[in-house]
Amino acid sequence: MRIVAVKEKTVPLASATRNSSIGFGAMTASAVVVESDVVRNGKPVIGVAFDSIGRYGHGGLLRERFIPRLMAAEPERYTDGNGSLDPNRAWDVLMTDEKPGGHGERCGAVGLIDAALWDLAAKLADVPLWALLGKIDGRPASAKVAVYASGGHYREADDIRLLCEDIRREIGNGHRRFKIKIGGVGVKDDVARIAAVLALLGPGMTLAVDGNGTFSRDKTVAYLDALAGLPLAWIEEPVHPLDYELHREIASLTPIPIATGENLFSRDDARNLLRYGGLRPDRDMLQYDVSLSYGIVEYRRVLADLEAHGWNRARCAPHAGHLLAAHCVGGLGLGLAEVAIEQTSLFGSLTARFAVADGIASLPEAPGVGLETALPFAQIFDGLLN
Ligand SMILES: [Mg+2]
Repeated sequence: MRIVAVKEKTVPLASATRNSSIGFGAMTASAVVVESDVVRNGKPVIGVAFDSIGRYGHGGLLRERFIPRLMAAEPERYTDGNGSLDPNRAWDVLMTDEKPGGHGERCGAVGLIDAALWDLAAKLADVPLWALLGKIDGRPASAKVAVYASGGHYREADDIRLLCEDIRREIGNGHRRFKIKIGGVGVKDDVARIAAVLALLGPGMTLAVDGNGTFSRDKTVAYLDALAGLPLAWIEEPVHPLDYELHREIASLTPIPIATGENLFSRDDARNLLRYGGLRPDRDMLQYDVSLSYGIVEYRRVLADLEAHGWNRARCAPHAGHLLAAHCVGGLGLGLAEVAIEQTSLFGSLTARFAVADGIASLPEAPGVGLETALPFAQIFDGLLN
């Protein structure tokens, strides 16, 4: 098996959405296609990947560094002894001559090619990615994954009524777990939004809240006081993602589970969070973003690290509603996948075709990741496919 071409393009993700940290009006993402010399049904077998959201496209790094490095490698360097594509070996090719530490944006560029290589490897094996991951990991994998519906962004007018409309609709669509934003208004108004949603939930349904890493210590303490006693599934990123000492203090102040990690992009940072963040393996959630953190090869090392620190991988809920993360949940035995409530934007529509029943989604059975089955596939990969 030889890789004969790797193509990339930048895709605008313009959306009117805001959280308490950033707006998404100028957001972009990268799409990648890896073409192999294997031909089936008269067409080359290709791997495709689309970025996670929140860190912009990686075009410069892909074009100048990582695509040329992969294209220059002889197939012996990215295949196994049988000549089959081995994403682990390809990862080593991508990371050739990269110094340790100081990850910058390269982790997203490498993660994207890694995702396309896993898609290709699963297609060459003629199985969905979740099944391939389960086989490699030696564990029972499943197309059924527990999901939560994520949204609750702020509206200029009629905010609580529209929020409740969203939640009611998603309950009707089969969702049982929800997450909404906090920190975009004052604490009193946030408590009113939370109370309005909690009033809609039936038995077994849960609500989490997300501060997007913007709260000071004092603001966090004020929120913890106001939220004390409310049945929240977790409070997500109340404080700066890299302030481990503050995480340690916050975790000591509240029984509410804390979820964090989506803005750490390396195994090194993931390990530092476990070492120094004071998080609690019996309740807290780890949300490392697979695609933005060097991809599946590195994520499997992160899982080994967290198990060495006494954590169960069921406490992992990888960031962002994209198919790759959902396959990792099903294939690697993680806890939860994220699905966007808002499905009109390009990114939000990626998981719009998931069939959800009683909080459980069914992953595509198509070989690979199944991005081809996602609503915006043609728009994302326009110009990259032959
Ligand atoms: Mg978040």
